This record gives sequence, C-alpha cells and structure tokens, in this order.
Amino acid sequence: MVGAGYGAGADGVNGRQFALYLARDLHCICGCVGREDTLVPNHRAGRGMGGSRVLDRPANVIVMCSSVNGLIESNATWAKRARDYGWKLSRWQVPEDEPFYDLATREWYLIDNLYHRTITEKAAA
Ligand SMILES: [Zn+2]
Repeated sequence: MVGAGYGAGADGVNGRQFALYLARDLHCICGCVGREDTLVPNHRAGRGMGGSRVLDRPANVIVMCSSVNGLIESNATWAKRARDYGWKLSRWQVPEDEPFYDLATREWYLIDNLYHRTITEKAAA
C-alpha cells in the first residue's frame, strides 16, 4: 500500500491529508521508482522551532521518498539541488509563488492550497 509506512500525525500532516498529497503528487519528485512505500511529506519552508501551523498548508508540502528526504538534510549536493528545484525554500519565500521541479515528469509546477498542481514555466536563475 502506498504510504503505508508513514505514521499519521508526524510532521503536522495527518493520514487523510497525506492521502491527498499522494493523490496530487503521485510519485517522489526525485524520479525514483519502487520506493513508494517510503514516501513522506516534506515541508518546503521549514516550520522551525515549535512548528508553525501555517506552514502545514498544501502549497508548502511535497511528497518525496525517505532517501531523498534524508539526503537533502545531510548531503551538500542534494541540499543545493533541493533549493534549485524549489523542494526547499527560504523562510522569506512564498510557497504559492515558488514552482518546484519534478524530476519524474521534467516539468515545473506551482501548487496551491487546494491540492492542485499546475505546470508552469521557470525562468533560468
Ligand atoms: Zn525518490
């Protein structure tokens, strides 16, 4: 079962919300296949100490496998990739305005707070 390993309630995302993220994103943004059972919600802009509930909104959360989720926290190359691709945002960036790149589909997407994602163009940085 997809996402079965994900503990409901962790990271401020409950099981019902996580099902909506899975339905929206379908796969890990790193393009991996076969790790669906390890998918977790990733907060793009960190919630910081104490956890800001406002950053639990859908535009700030994307699904990724636990492997990449760990690498972007521990590996400099992946950390840079996460920033370049909009998987990780700075505190001053607005998730609704910042597209992210999906390596599986090779498209940039904007996401809203109604669990929609829309293909968009991203100007070269
Ligand atoms: Zn992956």
